Amino acid sequence: MLTIDTLKMVQPTVVKQVQSLYERERIVHAYLFEGDKGTGKSQVAQFFIQLLLCEQVEHNEPCLQCRQCKLVMSGNHTNVHHIYPDGASIKIEQVRNLMKEMKMVGREEGRKFYVIHNADKMNIAAANMLLKFLEEPVGKVTAILLTEHYQAILPTILSRCQHFKFAALPREVIIAQLTSEQVTKSMAATVSLLTNDLEEALALSNDEQFVQMRKTVLHLIGTIQQNVQESLLYIQEAWIPVYKEKQDFERALDLLLFAYRDIVALKADIEGTVVAFPDKEEEFKNIALRSTYERLSKQMQAILKAREQLHRNMNRSLLMEQLMLNLQEGYAFV
Ligand SMILES: [Zn+2]
Repeated sequence: MLTIDTLKMVQPTVVKQVQSLYERERIVHAYLFEGDKGTGKSQVAQFFIQLLLCEQVEHNEPCLQCRQCKLVMSGNHTNVHHIYPDGASIKIEQVRNLMKEMKMVGREEGRKFYVIHNADKMNIAAANMLLKFLEEPVGKVTAILLTEHYQAILPTILSRCQHFKFAALPREVIIAQLTSEQVTKSMAATVSLLTNDLEEALALSNDEQFVQMRKTVLHLIGTIQQNVQESLLYIQEAWIPVYKEKQDFERALDLLLFAYRDIVALKADIEGTVVAFPDKEEEFKNIALRSTYERLSKQMQAILKAREQLHRNMNRSLLMEQLMLNLQEGYAFV
């Protein structure tokens, strides 16, 4: 769970907008939080709800200590309901039950909330039911719809919601967050290129298989500089039998691509570039010195080609052997 300070760093604009709603006491019946996965939508929803229920708000922030704040945090507040897709969609029964709940007299004082997660997954019947409710709101009830695909929501529902756009997390923010969670700077630099979902990035940083994958790719770069036989042996040992799942194989290729991108960036000496493998800067600088842009570009093309071949289900040993030969080729004339 993100702290309020983190939330303010991750989504400064939205958090301020929410605080301003609270301050001006301008709470409407429905809000739409739209943004990519991992941009903090449900965390901001919780912050918003706590802000409106908290018994001792200070500086437009919920205290997180009072009974109300704690109940919201634990998911046990009787005024707060969440709906998630049941299988592939959100069904009419779910919305119907929710509306019944909203019409009942609450056990707690104050405003009631419902949060619809993946609101774009409402089927037509469910969406129409919700629409009816939005058209005739009862009492102090507020809906928060969360979505990654707002275009998939009925325009009639959209028009009844106040819209909040969640920005994608800048890479620096992800790196800063990860390092504050004891992830090394090098690892943070790598995973922040693979995802801008903070939780996923953190999980990846602590995933043994991923840590090993990173090592394998870096070792492979070393062998590519030495001789083709060694890299061919190494992929048969440490790559082909390990990355059986297509997505792991692809991810390893992506890491390889990032490494070459680093080498290009170091060669060009682009100021302010945060490379993917800061721990390999010296080694990569040496490679950069011995390479030409043309060569590096061909190597990156070769990796992209391998990626395509993977998707066309080409034999993976063959694909990797070709890739090793192509990567090596650039160095034959050094
Ligand atoms: Zn509180």
